[in-house]
Amino acid sequence: MGLAVKTPTTKLFIDGKFIESKTTEWIDIHNPATNEVVSRVPKATASEMEAAVASCKKAFWNWSETSILSRQQIFLRYQQLIKENLKEISKLITFEQGKTLADAEGDVFRGLQVVEHACSVTSLILGETMPSITKDMDTYTYRLPLGVCAGIAPFNFPAMIPLWMFPMAMVCGNTFLMKPSERVPGALMFLAKLFQDAGAPDGTLNIIHGQHEAVNFICDHPDIRAISFVGSNQAGEYIYERGSRNGKRVQANMGAKNHGVVMPDANKENTLNQLVGAAFGAAGQRCMALSTAILVGEAQKWLPELVERAKNLRVNAGDQPGADLGPLISPQARERVCSLIEKGVKEGASLLLDGRNVKVKGYENGNFVGPTILAKVKPNMTCYKEEIFGPVLVVLEADTLDEAIEMVNNNPYGNGTAIFTTNGATARKYSHLVDVGQVGVNVPIPVPLPMFSFTGSRASFRGDTNFYGKQGVQFYTQLKTIISQWKEEDATIAKPAVVMPTMGN
Ligand code: NAD
Repeated sequence: MGLAVKTPTTKLFIDGKFIESKTTEWIDIHNPATNEVVSRVPKATASEMEAAVASCKKAFWNWSETSILSRQQIFLRYQQLIKENLKEISKLITFEQGKTLADAEGDVFRGLQVVEHACSVTSLILGETMPSITKDMDTYTYRLPLGVCAGIAPFNFPAMIPLWMFPMAMVCGNTFLMKPSERVPGALMFLAKLFQDAGAPDGTLNIIHGQHEAVNFICDHPDIRAISFVGSNQAGEYIYERGSRNGKRVQANMGAKNHGVVMPDANKENTLNQLVGAAFGAAGQRCMALSTAILVGEAQKWLPELVERAKNLRVNAGDQPGADLGPLISPQARERVCSLIEKGVKEGASLLLDGRNVKVKGYENGNFVGPTILAKVKPNMTCYKEEIFGPVLVVLEADTLDEAIEMVNNNPYGNGTAIFTTNGATARKYSHLVDVGQVGVNVPIPVPLPMFSFTGSRASFRGDTNFYGKQGVQFYTQLKTIISQWKEEDATIAKPAVVMPTMGN
């Protein structure tokens, strides 16, 4: 117990205060490179969670009535504070999540871009108007906040994904309850402190921690109007159904199996580098990782070179110089990835590169898996059907573009895909016919900037409106339509009446 007492604890953020939970249930947070316990996160008690929602609810009226220019100013200060602290936040991410420092900086940077975009709220949130729908009658709409909104985040982007959620919601005038992933709460806690420093009033953002009970609490609480979720299909489908049943808006970004289709006319050098980077970067723990390659025709001959390039990647703890990929999040994740590789082999795939026995000097207890390539994979194999979420590239073959398109469209997921080609017509045909929400043409990870939206589709998304961009504003607002008639004859007489009033004559 002596050791446990010394372990730092993650605080709750309730009503503007960082407070220690009174819970008896704690979850250990491990550094994935060493598996040492670095912190403990509480499963917030029912009364703490109630206090967090009550605080959001209490803060809502003032916040929603605050001039939009004042809210914009807070976010302008916030984006500057994130920039100034980017390196510190990144270190926290590497410490708890394991990704390389360079990649952690990318994590913060992509979230920062959403905060910067939130600063353009004054143009984004405009309503519509139509004058003179009949004599002296006009119609106009306001985009108004919903009230208390909530976000449930995954472990793989500890900064970016919370930043997809609360800034857009709050700049629109909502107050927000965040539940970060219980495995990586540190970055969000830091971001919350910066948000407070930027001038966010107490209670506008509250943070609770926990697992299923916290999720159920959010899905069921009558004062929560909307839920943004990012994570696995298992959790996302459940949250979508439970939250929707309770009358809430829910948007859920979920799992993926992203295909990179390589045409024989592609720029080989570029394509192989892009494939390797996008398959193994972040140890494959990205929802937009290019985890599946379809080599078309002659491009199949490039496989040995692909393997050579993958071999050159350096596996190491994320804070070590020169690391290309770090560890997986947990020993369980590592075991799962290894067993999916094993299943692939058993089901007939050829293991061209096996990262299961990688040794990282000084980090022998870390959850490392090196780049792994399974070739001759067929669509009925488990390693193709399941999202692996590790540094494993599964390679399929197709004779023609049409065959590749059919494969991609038969896969249930629709998050991202890329085509590598030097032929514009091939690229256009692919982009047009493929049923996937985000398509890269010679771009391996086509994550849109926040002036667009993140448009995953099919099994990768549930809901009607996507994250950030115009769709994000729509998700976090509702329209009020006002039809008003001001009769011309009632207009106030412009000139002051200087003559004696004659009482109606
Ligand atoms: P996860 O679903 O395990 O966890 C996400 C959140 O849901 C966490 O806050 C967790 O506490 C909660 N949760 C977990 N299991 C739950 C359950 N059974 N019921 C209710 N709540 C539950 O996801 P993860 O492992 O943290 O993240 C990896 C997954 O997220 C991958 O599938 C990845 O593709 C997906 N992801 C998708 C996107 C996207 O934009 N499409 C982005 C990032 C990650």
